Amino acid sequence: MDNYPYEYIKDAHRKSYNNLMQVKASSTCCCFACLEVFTLSDFPDGWLGEEDPEKEQTVQCPYCGMDSVLGDSSGFPVSDKGFVETMNEIYFGEPLSQFSQNPD
Ligand SMILES: [Zn+2]
Repeated sequence: MDNYPYEYIKDAHRKSYNNLMQVKASSTCCCFACLEVFTLSDFPDGWLGEEDPEKEQTVQCPYCGMDSVLGDSSGFPVSDKGFVETMNEIYFGEPLSQFSQNPD
């Protein structure tokens, strides 16, 4: 938890929405719901939808179906286990007791 400031994690979380283009531009992705790290080439039959500039499109994890996927083109260290686990802990783990003193 010490290596990644909360602001950094929040930025990363923001990038997990409307991220179809980002994921398509990535070679490696992670899901911070189920902690899978995977590449697009793991899914030769496709998994991502078509791009539609008319609406937001948020990628869902091919393993668990959560909209908690980040691609490496986001600039975040998606293959760093510590990073993915920190994301998981904050967004899916125990209550955010250590942060609850400072809501946005
Ligand atoms: Zn997942």
